[in-house]
Amino acid sequence: MKIIHWLREDLRLFDNPALHYAASQGDVVPVFIYPEGLGSASYWWLHHSLRHLADSLREKGVPLILRTGEPTVVIREIAKDIDADAVVWNRVYSPSGITLGEAMKCELSRDGVANQSFNGQLLIEPTKIFNKQGKPFKVFTPFWRHCLSVLNPSELLPKPDFKKHSMHLESDSLDDWGLRPTKPDWASGLKRLWQPGERGAQDRWHRFIETSANKYLGGRDFPSKPNTSLLSPHLVFGEISPRQLWHDTNECIAIQAVDSSNGNKFLSEIGWREFSRYLLVHFPSIEERPFNERFNAFPWQDNSVLIEAWKRGKTGYPIVDAGMRELWHTGYMHNRVRMIVASFLTKHCLSHWKHGMDWFWDTLVDADIANNTASWQWVAGCGADASPYFRIFNPILQGDKFDKDGTYIKQWVPELKDLPKKYINKPWEADELTLSVANVKLGKHYPFPIVDHTQARNAALAAYQVIKQ
Ligand SMILES: Cc1cc2nc3c(=O)[nH]c(=O)nc-3n(C[C@H](O)[C@H](O)[C@H](O)COP(=O)(O)OP(=O)(O)OC[C@H]3O[C@@H](n4cnc5c(N)ncnc54)[C@H](O)[C@@H]3O)c2cc1C
Repeated sequence: MKIIHWLREDLRLFDNPALHYAASQGDVVPVFIYPEGLGSASYWWLHHSLRHLADSLREKGVPLILRTGEPTVVIREIAKDIDADAVVWNRVYSPSGITLGEAMKCELSRDGVANQSFNGQLLIEPTKIFNKQGKPFKVFTPFWRHCLSVLNPSELLPKPDFKKHSMHLESDSLDDWGLRPTKPDWASGLKRLWQPGERGAQDRWHRFIETSANKYLGGRDFPSKPNTSLLSPHLVFGEISPRQLWHDTNECIAIQAVDSSNGNKFLSEIGWREFSRYLLVHFPSIEERPFNERFNAFPWQDNSVLIEAWKRGKTGYPIVDAGMRELWHTGYMHNRVRMIVASFLTKHCLSHWKHGMDWFWDTLVDADIANNTASWQWVAGCGADASPYFRIFNPILQGDKFDKDGTYIKQWVPELKDLPKKYINKPWEADELTLSVANVKLGKHYPFPIVDHTQARNAALAAYQVIKQ
């Protein structure tokens, strides 16, 4: 039996349901098709992840086939060329991913090629979870409580053993896809922090369990501390399965290697990942429009000078600038700081959340339609179960609370490295002598605040009144 495995967001061998099934049935041809529309940082990640996957498959005697084109056309062509008996894949839960999966099913069935899709991306199928009224959940806590009461993820699947076969298929060259930046090569910071691919994912996961999981609950909000897993890009590309995280965490709790409050908090964050995909499946319009329709009338101001200063990390608010520069250099930003910078853009700058979402999409290595959309709407106050719009983060207090000694700020905003702690979140309050001893001339080395916190807060609240009435 000849089976095509259409790789999508599942670039791994371990616990890969569709790949495992394919290998158990016959000769497997793994095919990955160039995905349109990813951001620049994601393309960088994809290059390395595919390189790693191709190596792992080659070690097992199976070549990875890369192709470009409309996926239903490409897969049907290959199916015809090799006279395939079946095509399998793991489902993708974004609106375009669902549409493509359905089109693939339809076209293959019309051609008389057997096909089957699997859940390799979520703990629980979004279409199986409803509230007591039979409607989709809109609030996280009852959603996750319900999930916990029914969750029973199946056992993990080993890496498959493949049968060697002699089918020879043309493949694009990965280098010809040009996924990496060249002129200029802005990826040096990404290379230092990340090891894309399945092995990198497993290493990161085991390091987290061994060194940080027990600090997760109390430590996950402090951006200078390595207390979170850094698994997000690995999860986005499917290099590790959420089922493995679920089983391993519960096993660690059972043997008391991780205490239950830390382990369960970590799993509830995996729950947020499930929830954002769940929302996108049941309310696909949120990719484009606010979940709370009242926000369609919100008077966003979209000042391009403010948006540009925000992107470049030059707002004059050190915690915001540190976050934006961490993002630019590493393709990542700590979750607490993501909330602060998103609040700053949508509330202090009164800019539409889509500007932020688009910038994140291009610069994050973990850019993910579901998490990005749900999180931006959550911060902007227009999402499901959102933080209310009138709750406006004060970037000075947030900095003082979560980066008290300025370690994180000094790492990413080195021009402030000699400023005393007292002023690290509000350099404009330092006297001339203090600034001069720290070698900071405001307006020259580091900007004055682009907006005044109190005035910006009042303007945001006034704008909110427009849609509240
Ligand atoms: C404005 C904004 C935009 C965001 N955009 C993205 C995005 O594009 N892609 C993305 O993966 N995450 C996004 N997040 C969520 C979160 O910031 C990251 O998932 C997290 O920082 C990743 O770091 P980690 O892997 O160390 O997380 P950990 O704390 O170790 O959490 C483990 C995993 O749980 C999931 N998770 C954690 N927090 C959240 C959350 N709030 N919502 C959904 N899932 C979560 C992630 O898959 C994460 O890898 C965004 C958050 C905000 C506020």
